[in-house]
Amino acid sequence: MSEPGAVTERLTRIRADLARAACEAGRQDEVALVVVTKTVPNDEILEAYAAGQRLFGENRVQEAVAKIGQLKVAMPDARWHLIGHLQTNKTRVAAENFATIESVDTVRLARKLDAAAGRLHRQLPVFLEVNAAGETTKSGFSASGLVQAIPDLLTCPSLELCGLMTVAPLVTNPDDVAGVFRSMRELRDDIRLRFDLPSLLHLSMGMSGDYQVAVREGATIVRIGRAIFGERPITERGPG
Ligand SMILES: *Cc1c(COP(=O)(O)O)cnc(C)c1O
Repeated sequence: MSEPGAVTERLTRIRADLARAACEAGRQDEVALVVVTKTVPNDEILEAYAAGQRLFGENRVQEAVAKIGQLKVAMPDARWHLIGHLQTNKTRVAAENFATIESVDTVRLARKLDAAAGRLHRQLPVFLEVNAAGETTKSGFSASGLVQAIPDLLTCPSLELCGLMTVAPLVTNPDDVAGVFRSMRELRDDIRLRFDLPSLLHLSMGMSGDYQVAVREGATIVRIGRAIFGERPITERGPG
């Protein structure tokens, strides 16, 4: 649990860090911050909201939906991104509750989400998750698999392909993953050009440990939890 005021203070520092990193990289565009709230108590989420934060990320559908419901009245204009693996049997709930799904990792999932979004009469912004370092424990398209999948993904009329997302390997020195982030930027540029996809703009990459490197390499969205709320309880399941 964080002291009252601590969340605001860390949020302010991270926003300044992001602006500085973007400036140092010679970038004019803004880097969006998704505040990751998995396992975080509602009062701390409300503190972030009171500090002006509107964009939030959760990695498990069930837990997120409960939280989103509880916070709806107090945070009417909050937008939620799903950043964790989505099972195909939860696409309807996901399409109902999230502004954006950042973790589309198979064509099969994309088709299910497309059908769910269509039934809700909405255009659903999605990101395609890339397993950039080819780690066996992580989901996501390989770079070549993604290029092959794009034609299929383009047949999903209710999905809007907004960008790519990745979770970089855990390393001691964040500079070691600069190459991973760079390859993501190249992949996005390649796919945008090759398939003429002007909407495929975003690169969601960078977390508490590596966001400065990610911004230097072209992240347009970073997803940060621990650096704002402190370490999560160790009882948490899985890598997310
Ligand atoms: C938990 C999580 C984050 C945030 O990680 P921190 O280390 O807490 O900043 C970002 N992206 C995904 C997909 C996550 O599951």
